[in-house]
Amino acid sequence: MLTVNAYAATSATAPLGPTTIERRDLGPRDVLIEIKFAGICHSDIHNARNEWGGATYPIVPGHEIAGIVSRVGAEVTRHAVGDRVGVGCLVDSCRECVNCRKGEEQHCLKGFIGTYGGVGRDGKPTQGGYSTHIVVAEDFVLKIPEGISLDAAAPLLCAGITTYAPLRHWGAGPGRKVAVVGLGGLGHMAVKIAHAMGAEVTVLSQSLSKKEDGLRLGADHYHATKDPETFQKLAGTFDLIVNTVSAKIDLDAYLSLLALDGTLVNVGAPAEPLSLQVFSLIMTRRSFAGSLIGGIQQTQEMLDFCAKHGLGSDIEVIPATKINEAYERVLASDVRYRFVIDIATLK
Ligand code: NAP
Ligand code: ZN
Ligand code: ZN
Repeated sequence: MLTVNAYAATSATAPLGPTTIERRDLGPRDVLIEIKFAGICHSDIHNARNEWGGATYPIVPGHEIAGIVSRVGAEVTRHAVGDRVGVGCLVDSCRECVNCRKGEEQHCLKGFIGTYGGVGRDGKPTQGGYSTHIVVAEDFVLKIPEGISLDAAAPLLCAGITTYAPLRHWGAGPGRKVAVVGLGGLGHMAVKIAHAMGAEVTVLSQSLSKKEDGLRLGADHYHATKDPETFQKLAGTFDLIVNTVSAKIDLDAYLSLLALDGTLVNVGAPAEPLSLQVFSLIMTRRSFAGSLIGGIQQTQEMLDFCAKHGLGSDIEVIPATKINEAYERVLASDVRYRFVIDIATLK
């Protein structure tokens, strides 16, 4: 067992603070990773504050992990000491069910093992990336290509794959009009990736305050959703809308922006239920869908795609002592566009 430094929340209302946790002994197919950077995903906040229910404490969040392999088990073949690697939201799954065999481990019928907040195969709670080291089964460790720095790569492990997967699934590409709702961690990656796929990209943000950034990131158009005229001007426009908003939105208003056969896919995961009028779907045969991160193979595909197109996340690197402040800034939509913890500050 390895005792390592970490940052944890001890209750839904407590700020995160320093602690130590145990990492399991390296099994034959396990990899020990020295974590260099960990992104702060809005899901970390939902979880640390138990907004989705079911949280157990202490909880060490962090599922956007980038680091270096420091030891490998005797039977490991995919990774070697010194490799640049990443870990996202999954650290294991049953590997046998129909969905796992399709490479959709995030939809494992027995439930995937989450990087934190889950129960590992050793029966102990899993703990995430706000820590100096992690032990992960080699099949769930991704290779970070040369050309993406580790700090800018970390957020790809969740924000990157969560937006890449629906953009691929619903065919973002040349001739397709894609709107991204919310320009935060997920949203800014959706803009970069959809643009690199060749789609015509529109940002729908609460205000125009980040318009210059949005256009620089790759958007062709940028509109403020607090301006009611936006919804009139853009009615019936988009083939695909990716909603990344962490709070409740007026679904009917956004569905009205879809073209014939268009899809609004929700990746944002607010705790409160969303409601819609059936007529918002009946009219022009629209669909409302959801999407959950992505499988391991597609996560590697996304990392390789990002390297090929020179895409990393736009980040603000912070010491661990600033995690609680960063949480408040994320909640205030004051993030440009992902906070990344410099794990060296945890040592
Ligand atoms: P984030 O960085 O906080 O970005 C969310 C953005 O939504 C904000 O920057 C803001 O953009 C907009 N927004 C926030 N509150 C709003 C409100 N009340 N009304 C309208 N717009 C609002 O969060 P994130 O890390 O990108 O995560 C976004 C959501 O996705 C979270 O709920 C997270 O749990 C979820 N998530 C889901 C998956 C999945 O697999 N489905 C994976 C990761 C995360 P503007 O300032 O531009 O309006
Ligand atoms: Zn996440
Ligand atoms: Zn499975």
